[in-house]
Amino acid sequence: MTDRYAVFGHPIAHSRSPLIHAAFARQTGQDMRYEAILAPLDGFAASVAAFVAAGGRGANVTVPFKEDAFRLAQRLAPRAERAGAVNTLTFAANEILGDNTDGAGLVADLTRNLGREPAGQRILLLGAGGAARGVIEPLLDRQPAALVIANRTVARAQELARLFGRGVAACGFDAVDGPYDLVINATAASLAGELPPLSPAVFAADALAYDMMYGRDTPFLAFARTHGAATADGLGMLVEQAAEAFQLWRGVRPDTAPVIASLRAA
Ligand code: NDP
Repeated sequence: MTDRYAVFGHPIAHSRSPLIHAAFARQTGQDMRYEAILAPLDGFAASVAAFVAAGGRGANVTVPFKEDAFRLAQRLAPRAERAGAVNTLTFAANEILGDNTDGAGLVADLTRNLGREPAGQRILLLGAGGAARGVIEPLLDRQPAALVIANRTVARAQELARLFGRGVAACGFDAVDGPYDLVINATAASLAGELPPLSPAVFAADALAYDMMYGRDTPFLAFARTHGAATADGLGMLVEQAAEAFQLWRGVRPDTAPVIASLRAA
């Protein structure tokens, strides 16, 4: 029987995950089907339960359900526990396993696709929401020279700095010093076509500005280019976090490069 997987979100029609996983399945010869499921805002757990009852083997979880998925999981991978959010569920015989592959996806995109090893780099992380929280530990594990979280609501950045420790610092946008080798935009500002109020002095001479948002140019990336930084959007992260989930489910790691290239071409 063909194994079933899905991504749950609200909205979900825009999701590229079905395309990505279909490409991975073709490439690795896995007999599986992957669909997008629109869960009601107040009905995530029931939607997942129905999918499991129909034979679902695993699921990805996107906005706004990553914290619901965290609560639904009966066993958590340590990185998901620290992230406080789950983007990958595996339905085992008697329990639901929760993991978070977003941070590994970002680090894989930086190191494999963009040639940017975070080790020894000064990193500025903009935002203190779910996406920021999910990438902090995987970034710290690469041993950067510094990791500073800047957020509109400073208290949320401070809370994350306290939670993760390991020298992480926190501030508001107006107090950001510089320069940084890697500036990662994990705010939702790009979704609204807005730019976090940053000084151009945040960018070091050979800085990379990374926006987790993908699918269109953003004011943040345009600002970074104007001030001499190299830029990257979050499409590679999206494909790499999917590859990490695929590997958890199927035990084989797909080749991400052709999938990223074909999504870019489309
Ligand atoms: P959350 O809602 O959890 O967090 C939003 C964050 O953005 C908060 O820090 C918030 O600040 C800040 N923010 C919102 N609006 C503005 C603004 N106008 N100016 C400055 N800061 C703002 O969202 P997520 O963390 O889940 O997602 C953030 C982004 O990351 C989204 O664009 C999402 O699409 C992207 N993403 C991409 C992934 C990928 O694979 N490429 C994976 C996951 C997320 P405050 O605390 O003050 O409210």
